[in-house]
Amino acid sequence: MRKKSWQLPGLMWQRLSLRKKLGLVFAVLTVVPLLLTTFLTWQSYGKAMRETVVERNRQLAEQIGCDLEWVFAEKMRLLQMMAKTAAIRSMDAERQNEALRQMVLQYPDIQLAVVADAQGRQVARWDGQMDQTRNISYWDRSYYTDVLNTGSTAISDVLLAKSTQKMGIVVAEPILVDGRIAGVLIVNIELRSLVSRIGATTVSDSGYAYVVNRYGRMIMHPDLGLIAEGVDASALRPVQEVLSEHNGSLEYEDAKGTTLLASYRFVPTTRMGVVVQQPLLEAMEPVAVLKWVVLVIALFSSALAAVGALELARTMAKPLVRISEATRRLAAGDLSFRLPVTSKDEIGQLAANFNDMTEQLLHRDEALNHIQGELERKVVLRTRELQALNEELRRISRADGLTGLANRRYFDEFLQREWLRARRKQECMALIMIDVDEFKSYNDYYGHLRGDDCLRCIGAALVQTAKRSSDLVARYGGEEFAVVLPTTTEEGALELAVQIQQAVAAACIRHERSHNGDFITVSMGLAAFTPQGDDTCKELVAVADQALYQAKRQGRNCICVGSH
Ligand code: GH3
Ligand code: MG
Ligand code: MG
Repeated sequence: MRKKSWQLPGLMWQRLSLRKKLGLVFAVLTVVPLLLTTFLTWQSYGKAMRETVVERNRQLAEQIGCDLEWVFAEKMRLLQMMAKTAAIRSMDAERQNEALRQMVLQYPDIQLAVVADAQGRQVARWDGQMDQTRNISYWDRSYYTDVLNTGSTAISDVLLAKSTQKMGIVVAEPILVDGRIAGVLIVNIELRSLVSRIGATTVSDSGYAYVVNRYGRMIMHPDLGLIAEGVDASALRPVQEVLSEHNGSLEYEDAKGTTLLASYRFVPTTRMGVVVQQPLLEAMEPVAVLKWVVLVIALFSSALAAVGALELARTMAKPLVRISEATRRLAAGDLSFRLPVTSKDEIGQLAANFNDMTEQLLHRDEALNHIQGELERKVVLRTRELQALNEELRRISRADGLTGLANRRYFDEFLQREWLRARRKQECMALIMIDVDEFKSYNDYYGHLRGDDCLRCIGAALVQTAKRSSDLVARYGGEEFAVVLPTTTEEGALELAVQIQQAVAAACIRHERSHNGDFITVSMGLAAFTPQGDDTCKELVAVADQALYQAKRQGRNCICVGSH
């Protein structure tokens, strides 16, 4: 069984035509490498695309991180510098207001600048206009207390500025006078300007960047509503990573089940985290599109290659198929077929050789035909000669040498045949036996040569008398003759016997020694009857012979009719 399963493809392969075999080999040789290359390209392109996306997100996160660091570092340095100026340290409202105005004018992203005293009361304020409302207290603000507790710079969450109604992030700096905190310098950086300065937070249709503060709360996001709500993103994996002060990339699934590619960067100065993320499907969309394009191209190329391969196989196999057809026709005896010689390669040479061979065979065939014709002509000639000879032989074998009449052998044959026919048809047939009278003495007197002439003369007289085509005149032996008369009655035969007697007499053959006159005479015995029962033709001969004997006894030159 196992052997058979191995043999099956081999058998199927053997049964294929040359064209199909070539087509199959070419198709496999062209299509398989094409599909293999396509598959490998797919794999490596997908990997490269993923790495590119991760790298781009990582760079974007780094860039945003750097921008954030730069913006806040700049503001922190500005505040540190301002907090040391005499105007601010003076804790004089008018001087501080002027200093704040100058600072806000220089930095348009600062939407609000305030100086609060050590008790949290607002001393000076600039938010585009002079505000002398002094009863605002910052004591309950977390950044204010942070500054008092730490004695160093504090950065707030995203807050809604009450005066401008715009979201912003506050940076607060202690004002040190004689080594103690005399007040806190506060600036509110508008979020919108921050975002525009940092750059677009959207990466693609669905990809975006967001920033969380040290507690994991959203402080920058394309959706400002999330910022306003102060959404806590600390449960997200990239946020957890970035809050652990890590930089890197990961793939994770969000609450909706979407797989995302995220790159994250920790910003040490502000302890913020930047996350840039994009849905995996969208990130890999160009790969998917390319895969389809490559697949379509590969399939199209494969189909093209397969068609080309089949066509090539057809073209290559065509002359061989033609040669095969030519040899088949040659085997069937068709010598008129010639192959077109279209190339000088081995196949062209084979076709030319085939044509030469056919040409030679044709010449040989023609020569053979000629010889055969000649032979046939000679055979026909010889056959005719033989037939003529045979005919002559037959005639000779049937004829009597002296008289030319039928001989005894043919007489026996003829009589037997006619006897059987008469018996079958129940017809009467007759036989006349004729004997030349006193022929011995004729011979003795005239010589044997004259005797022969006499016999010839009597034979001719008999033939002239028995004219019916069915009658047979034969030399029975010596000087005896017989006339066979099929379909003849006794009367008819007797009439003919009389005519014979007259014809012999009319021949006037002189016989000096005859006792019946001066001329040759004949005696005749006649027998005529319808064959009955077991009768044979010998009985007809016997009856006629008996009658002849009687005629001799009655004195010769007469006719006697025998009875059966
Ligand atoms: P009958 O009247 O009783 O018949 O007497 P016959 O002399 O005719 O009879 P017989 O039998 O005594 O003689 C026949 C002769 O015929 C004898 C023979 O020499 C002769 N004869 C037989 N055949 C030929 C032949 O072919 N040529 C010649 N010339 N003579 C022949
Ligand atoms: Mg005789
Ligand atoms: Mg005789």
